[in-house]
Amino acid sequence: MAVQRTLSIIKPDATRRNLTGKIIAKFEDAGLRVVAQKRIRLTKEEAGRFYAVHRERPFYDELCEFMASAPIVVQVLEGEDAIAKNREVMGATDPAEAAEGTIRKEFALSKGENSVHGSDAPETAAEEIRFFFSELEIVG
Ligand code: GDP
Repeated sequence: MAVQRTLSIIKPDATRRNLTGKIIAKFEDAGLRVVAQKRIRLTKEEAGRFYAVHRERPFYDELCEFMASAPIVVQVLEGEDAIAKNREVMGATDPAEAAEGTIRKEFALSKGENSVHGSDAPETAAEEIRFFFSELEIVG
């Protein structure tokens, strides 16, 4: 299995409740390493560009409002099979369907306010990492 990098976001519902450290511990316990990280506040327009793939979905406007509603922590996670591993640690989109021990099961408030984002494939991971970080900011 190859070492990969993936883009992770700790979302506004989690930063608001001061859960950043608890969420990072879940990643580290799963063998993922934080190789870049910053706390930022997106505008609604920036959130819209990040989630452009969901433009046609009924929840798009709500999602952009939410992502701009408080600071987020964006991270690059590195490790063996990092993309799938991160999504496993995150759990299902809807916390009602998330497995025991996952971040979304423990912390998410709803399907929308679900505490974390993680890239879903190598191509999207590369694109999403570029959206937030320059090469110089990623230190493995
Ligand atoms: P993910 O890959 O598990 O994050 O899920 P998706 O790519 O399907 O959706 C992206 C994000 O849109 C989710 O993480 C949620 O924050 C949000 N989202 C998805 N479905 C819904 C929904 O039915 N209602 C609302 N309000 N937000 C949703």
